Amino acid sequence: MITNRTEMSALRALTRIASLLLALAASAAHAQVQARPDASPANPPAPFVLKQIGPGVYAAIDGPQGSSGSNAGFVVGDDGVLVVDSFFNPDATKALVASIHKITPKPIRYVVNTHYHIDHVGGDAVLREAGAIIIAHRNVRGWIHENNVNLLGTHITPQLRAQIASLADPDLVTDKPLTIWLGSRRVDVRPVEGHTGGDLAIFVPDAKVLFCGDLLWRKYPPNIIDGTVGKWIATVTEFQHLPNASAMTFVPGHGDVANIQDVADFDAYLRELSTDVAAGRAAGLTGKDLVNTVVPKLKGRFGDWEHLDRSAPTEVGYMDAELAGAKQVPIPTGN
Ligand SMILES: [Zn+2]
Repeated sequence: MITNRTEMSALRALTRIASLLLALAASAAHAQVQARPDASPANPPAPFVLKQIGPGVYAAIDGPQGSSGSNAGFVVGDDGVLVVDSFFNPDATKALVASIHKITPKPIRYVVNTHYHIDHVGGDAVLREAGAIIIAHRNVRGWIHENNVNLLGTHITPQLRAQIASLADPDLVTDKPLTIWLGSRRVDVRPVEGHTGGDLAIFVPDAKVLFCGDLLWRKYPPNIIDGTVGKWIATVTEFQHLPNASAMTFVPGHGDVANIQDVADFDAYLRELSTDVAAGRAAGLTGKDLVNTVVPKLKGRFGDWEHLDRSAPTEVGYMDAELAGAKQVPIPTGN
């Protein structure tokens, strides 16, 4: 997917999200190359894997090319469908709408965004066009345009800038728990802390499914550019203590469908990162010395995780800033 040294060095400099965005154009071309024999340019394979994880509950897991940009999912109720997140790539969102229409004739009524990052809200306009009301945390309206530009930093292209400018604003926002009834089917939406300061988790009690957004990553180091790891650990601990947590299905923002052991592994990653960076700081380590001490420890325990080499040094820097009281996080704009 990455073909020359300039692209390689740019990729290394980026966070996980920005890396996905840079890779997207190339991966779309690869998707054609790797299409199934029955696929055609007019009918390409979906860039995600749809997994049924409960009665009428589906996870749409980003494909191996990463061309959807993140995971999404949906819940079919008595009288309509609630979608969770809309990917980065609007073409993936269109494929998701087509998948939903194949499974049920019921209307798409809602999309709930787990947070403002473009890899989760990129196709909201497609879902609105399909009939959905866009629901998000109160802070998302103030962050969805400007902060997504900041998120991509110097690597933003005119095309991405235009996509961010045209992102759909949420219609309904909340910073409180919200219950949505799809006929007799209950869906609980609740604010959760740690990833951006404006995150929602979506719980389907009758299916024991929790859509975690980017509060959970499975076998991927998380993007903590906007994060507060101390609060994040508390949230992931809460996930593990939900009633019947051992019987629950957890849908992460990135990586495959998860169980409680995966949540515990992710919790361990955050704690290891926090503890090792704190120990390094206590020993007087800074900058590269801190990275070169902490990253091998993370690799020793989580060496099979995707993109660890690329992401871990950045995460050590963010963790260092958080422990120094200097971490920059998004500021609520009062929208
Ligand atoms: Zn994400």
